[in-house]
Amino acid sequence: MISMADVNKHFGSLHVLQNIDLEIPRGQVVIVLGPSGSGKSTLCRTINRLEPIDSGRIEVDGKVLPAEGKALAALRADVGMVFQSFNLFAHKTILENVMLAPLKVRRKKKDEAKKQALALLERVGIANQAEKYPAQLSGGQQQRVAIARALAMNPKVMLFDEPTSALDPEMVQEVLDVMTSLAKEGMTMLVVTHEMGFARKAGDRVLFMADGQIVEDTDPATFFTAPKSDRAKDFLGKIL
Ligand code: ADP
Ligand code: MG
Repeated sequence: MISMADVNKHFGSLHVLQNIDLEIPRGQVVIVLGPSGSGKSTLCRTINRLEPIDSGRIEVDGKVLPAEGKALAALRADVGMVFQSFNLFAHKTILENVMLAPLKVRRKKKDEAKKQALALLERVGIANQAEKYPAQLSGGQQQRVAIARALAMNPKVMLFDEPTSALDPEMVQEVLDVMTSLAKEGMTMLVVTHEMGFARKAGDRVLFMADGQIVEDTDPATFFTAPKSDRAKDFLGKIL
């Protein structure tokens, strides 16, 4: 579903992604771990071309990412992304937030978009808040809306970049629960997270990044019990 071949990316003299080769099959849940600054967010952002790459090749569902234009917009719609900050439109209701992209980008009819949006809000457990504005919701609720909004485009892949890092502790689980159910339904997911319980339970695979490289690529049980590299051992020593 996602294929990266010899991908390189620099920010000035900083080589943030170094010869990244990665194949993610359909339905796999990939957890991305690594110290701050190791390139996790950049990796996510290159997959839907929020960041251009310097060299290499990225494919989503067998299609090479085009540089720009309509083809890029279409492909980007296949890749849902949820960030640490929820980025909801403050002056639109929850329902309007979820309906917006299907109306504008997918050119859906209004009643159809509304029906789908309500079903998605139901799925993330928040349909009863549909007429409220983002500021009236808790952080956990807002992040669930952000997930519903991303799902409204019927993406083939979902990217999550530290989706619970900005939340108060008591709201983390409700967001992880939504992500867990998505994973169980077979969504292909790339998840940058510090939630190790989630990583162990929901992850099929762990990528450990350091200095712009994928240093370990293994299953969660192996990573957490028998990390190979000193970088990973050091990282786990600090967080566990
Ligand atoms: P992580 O998500 O693992 O913390 P990032 O992908 O955000 O790491 O960043 C990797 C490196 O690239 C860091 O050193 C960061 O400072 C740098 N970086 C990220 N975005 C930019 C940018 N837009 N311009 C310059 N440097 C950047
Ligand atoms: Mg980051």
